[in-house]
Amino acid sequence: MACGNYGRLTSAALDPVEKKPLAEWMPGSYVLSVGSYGCNLACPFCQNHVIAAAREDSVPWRFVAPGDLVDAACRLKARGNVGIAFTYNEPLVGWEYVRDTARLAHEHDLKVVVVSNGVVCGDVWHELLPLVDACNIDLKAASNEGYERLGAGVFDTVVGTIAAAADCPTCHVEVTTLCAPGFVDGRAVDRIARLLASIDPSIPYHLTQYVPRFRMADVPALPDAEVRSYADIARNSLAHVYIGNM
Ligand code: SF4
Repeated sequence: MACGNYGRLTSAALDPVEKKPLAEWMPGSYVLSVGSYGCNLACPFCQNHVIAAAREDSVPWRFVAPGDLVDAACRLKARGNVGIAFTYNEPLVGWEYVRDTARLAHEHDLKVVVVSNGVVCGDVWHELLPLVDACNIDLKAASNEGYERLGAGVFDTVVGTIAAAADCPTCHVEVTTLCAPGFVDGRAVDRIARLLASIDPSIPYHLTQYVPRFRMADVPALPDAEVRSYADIARNSLAHVYIGNM
């Protein structure tokens, strides 16, 4: 699973937690958000393809040891920082760095956030979950066939990742679907929302507007009204539905 990117950071920013997105966890606070490079999917609409599709020799990176990242996060407490978020690329391709940093972070009274596509083996996720205070997991398609178009037929794996997080009493979980044209429609959103409701109908669910990028740079976004109609469909099954990027 590891892709040799341990501690190699390509990006860092102090972001509002709402940007992760997390709508119902420590609202109004900030989190030091860091990314490395690499991903285990190949989404043609990837918003972060510059780092997600990169290798060690194709993107600038800087090694930051877990202790140094925790020190930086502690210094930022004065600016409202509550912890460290592993995000931007797929953080769990370098899960050992997440684990080692998270252990140290908790010793320094910092929260740990993971923003992931959910493609992670169950053993690793169960080892990490007690170290994760909040996560946002993407559910990018409503079927295995949909996921095959993103690089791997991992629908059941992602659903299992969400269910395990929802079952963990110390981890807050939210779920996001990007409304990418040709990949998500109202029927897909209905299926996803019903599935999430069967796990926990109180799971916060985000539908985010797509921005033309990467291999879909010439594909225009869906009209905002269509994304709003998807949210209305999701609300038939879920109590907390949010729209983002509009
Ligand atoms: S899972 Fe996320 S980071 Fe990876 S390719 Fe897809 S959109 Fe990009």
